Amino acid sequence: MKKEVDALLHARQGPMTSELVLRPGDFGLGHVPARLKPAAVAKSICGFCSTGCSLKVHLNASGEAVNLTPDPEYPVNLGMACPKGWEALTPLAATDRVTTPLLRNRLTGQLEPVSWERALTAFVENFKGIQARHGDHAISLLSTGQIVTEEMALLGALAKFGLGMLHVDSNTRQCMATSHVAYKQSFGFDAPPFTYADFEESDVLFFIGANPCIAHPIMWQRVMMNQHQPAIIVVDPRRTETAMLATQHLALRPKADLTLLYGLARELIYLGAVKREFIDAHTAGFAEFVQFIETFTPERTAHETGISVEELRRCAETIARGQRVSFWWTMGVNQSHEATRTAQAIINLALMTGNIGRPGTGANSITGQCNAMGSRLFGNATSLLGGYDFANAAHRAHVAAILGIDPTQIPSEKSWAYDQIIDGIERGDIRGLWIIATNTAHSWINQGRFAAIRAKLDFLVVQDMYATTETARLADLVLPAAGWGEKEGVFINSERRLGVARKVARAPGLALSDFRIFQLIAEAWGCGAMFREWSSPAAAFQILKKLSVGQPFDFFGIRDYAHIEEARGIQWPLPERGADPAPERRLFADGKFFTRDGRAKFFFDEPRPMPEQADAHYPLILLTGRGTSAQWHTGSRTNKSAILRKLAPTVQHVEINPADAAQVGISDGAKVTVQSRRAAVEAVALVTHVVQPGQVFMPMHFPDVNKLTFPAYDPHSRQPSYKACAVRVTKA
Ligand code: SF4
Repeated sequence: MKKEVDALLHARQGPMTSELVLRPGDFGLGHVPARLKPAAVAKSICGFCSTGCSLKVHLNASGEAVNLTPDPEYPVNLGMACPKGWEALTPLAATDRVTTPLLRNRLTGQLEPVSWERALTAFVENFKGIQARHGDHAISLLSTGQIVTEEMALLGALAKFGLGMLHVDSNTRQCMATSHVAYKQSFGFDAPPFTYADFEESDVLFFIGANPCIAHPIMWQRVMMNQHQPAIIVVDPRRTETAMLATQHLALRPKADLTLLYGLARELIYLGAVKREFIDAHTAGFAEFVQFIETFTPERTAHETGISVEELRRCAETIARGQRVSFWWTMGVNQSHEATRTAQAIINLALMTGNIGRPGTGANSITGQCNAMGSRLFGNATSLLGGYDFANAAHRAHVAAILGIDPTQIPSEKSWAYDQIIDGIERGDIRGLWIIATNTAHSWINQGRFAAIRAKLDFLVVQDMYATTETARLADLVLPAAGWGEKEGVFINSERRLGVARKVARAPGLALSDFRIFQLIAEAWGCGAMFREWSSPAAAFQILKKLSVGQPFDFFGIRDYAHIEEARGIQWPLPERGADPAPERRLFADGKFFTRDGRAKFFFDEPRPMPEQADAHYPLILLTGRGTSAQWHTGSRTNKSAILRKLAPTVQHVEINPADAAQVGISDGAKVTVQSRRAAVEAVALVTHVVQPGQVFMPMHFPDVNKLTFPAYDPHSRQPSYKACAVRVTKA
C-alpha cells in the first residue's frame, strides 16, 4: 500500500511545469530500431484531446505505423506532445481489441462472435421490431466527440433522416454543451473567438475551472512561452498544478464562481475599467447588467465565495491594468448547475473590458475531446446538421436540398438531451439504444443508476474498439470499430482549426471504420440510396463544405484534405476559394457578432445554491476532475499503455485536507470509504493541502467515482454538474 501511495504522491507532486510535455528521446520513443526504420511519414492530428496536436507517424515499407514523433512545423504544438500523444499508437495494439461482431446468445447469456451479415441483421431486426411495437422514436443513440467530423455527420444524418430516430445525443453534452449554448446566446453562434497565439500574447491570463497544466499541457506550454511576464490568475477551489504556478490563486468555495464573477464585474466598473466605446458600439444589455450586479458588493461576494475583499480587489485591479486580458474556462465552469450563466459571466467580463477581437484577449472556452467542436457543428443532435435549426422550415428545406433528400424526412422537433434520453429509457419510452465510442456505464453522472436503466432496454448496441469497456460488457450486440489511426477524416480543435487524421494502421480482424459501419447499416436498413454521395470521408467532407456555406463557420474555401495539410491546419471560417489562410486567426476583430443586430449580448441570472449541500451526515464536498495528463476519460485507451499507467496513479484515491483527515482519524495511505447519498466506494486517502478543509477530490478516471456524483443539470445546456456533491469519508 505504501508503494501505491508513494506513486500517487509522485504523480501529484512531481515537477509541475508542463512536466509531461515530452520531446523526442524522452522515452526512447524517438529512436526507431533499425529493422523498423521508417520508409515514409504521415502526419495526423492526435485523437485524444481538443488541443489538436499534429503527430508525424513513421511508416514502414508496408505503410504501417511503427512509431511517431510530434510535428515541429505545426502551429499548434510546435514539436511537442503530451504522454497521451506519444502513446497514441499503443491502444491500437491492445490485446482486448474486439475483432469481430459479437451477439449475445439468449440461451447462454454470452457475447459470441458472428459475421457482419448476422450482426447487421440483428441490428435491423431488433431496432425495427422496437419501432413497430413502440414507435419510431423508441430507438435512440448516444455518440461521442472522439470520431471524425465526417463520421459524426453521417451518423447524425443516418439516425435522424434514415432510421427515423428523434432523440440523438453524444458525450459532448458532458463536456461542451454549456460553451455551445453560452456562445450561441451571447455571440449569436457557437464561436470560440481565440487562437492559441493568444496564450503568448496576453499580459493577463484568467483561468477559471481549468487546469491546463495537466488537462491541456500543450496549451499550458504555450502560456509558458509568453514573453510578457503575464499575470496568471487561477480561480479554482483546489490548489491545482496550474494554481500552484499562478501569480494569484482565488481558492473560492465550490460553485461560488458565478457570484465571484459578478462581484468582479462590479469592481471593474468601480475601477473605471469598462470600455464604454466598445460597449456602446458592439453590445446590448450592459445597462441592465450594471443594475443587476449592483448588489454584488465586495462584502457580499466575499461572504458567499470565501474570497476576501482584498483578494477580489487585487484580482480586479490586475484585470483593469491589463492591456490584453484573456479569459479561459473549461469543465469547472461547464459542469455546473448554473454553467451557462457562469460561462456568460466570463463573456460579460471580456465584453465590458473590451478584451475581445484583439491579440491576447477573448472569452475563450477550452474544449475537451479531440472533435467536440466537430460534434457541435455536425452532430445533428440539438442543432440541425451545420448549425441550423430543426424548428425552422426554411433551414430544413435548405439542408434537405443540399443532401438531396425530402425535407419531410428531417424532424421539426428537437432531440432530448443525454439526461432526458436516460430518463426516457427509465420511463420505457426508449427501448433500443445504440452507443458509439463512449462509455456511459462509467462516465454518466450518478452512474449506479445505469444498471437498472440497461435492464429496461430491449436491445443495446455498442460500437467500440473494445468489448471490455463497462458499457460494451452490457451490450446485446457489439460492433467492432476501427480506432484513431485506422481511418481518416477531419478533427476541429479548440481554436476552430480543421486538421486531418490519417489512416496509418489497419484495423484488426473484422473491425471497420465507424464511417463504413454507418454505410453498412444504411444499406441493411434499406435507406442506403439516401447516402450514396457519402461514398467516403473525403466525399462527405465536400458535403459538409456545402452545408457550411453562409454560416459563421463557412469553410467552403478549403479545397480538400491536402489543402488542410499544406496549410498546417485551417481555422474556420474560410469562405473564399483559393484564399491563403493566415496560420493564426481570431474572430470579432471588427466588433461584429453573429446576432441579428451584430451586437454581443449580456446574459445574467441570480446565482442559485448548489443542489446538494454539505450537512452533518455528509459534511464534505466532493470535487471531481482530471487526475494526470497521462489519463483520458474512462481509461479505455490510456489504460492500455504500460507507460501511461506508470505515469498515473493506479489506485482509486481521494485527496483530503489534513484537518479533515485528522478529524476522522485518517492517515496518509489509509483505506477509506467515500460515501454519498447514492453510493459508498473504497479509496486510498491522500492527505494533502491541495484541497481545502471541507472538500475532497477524486479523479474521474476511476470507475467508481460517478457512483457518488449528484445528478443535477444546467437548465440551459443540460450539461451534468459533475463537480460537486456532498460526501463523508470514513476509515474503511
Ligand atoms: Fe496534444 Fe492533447 Fe494529444 Fe496531448 S492528448 S498530444 S495535448 S492533442
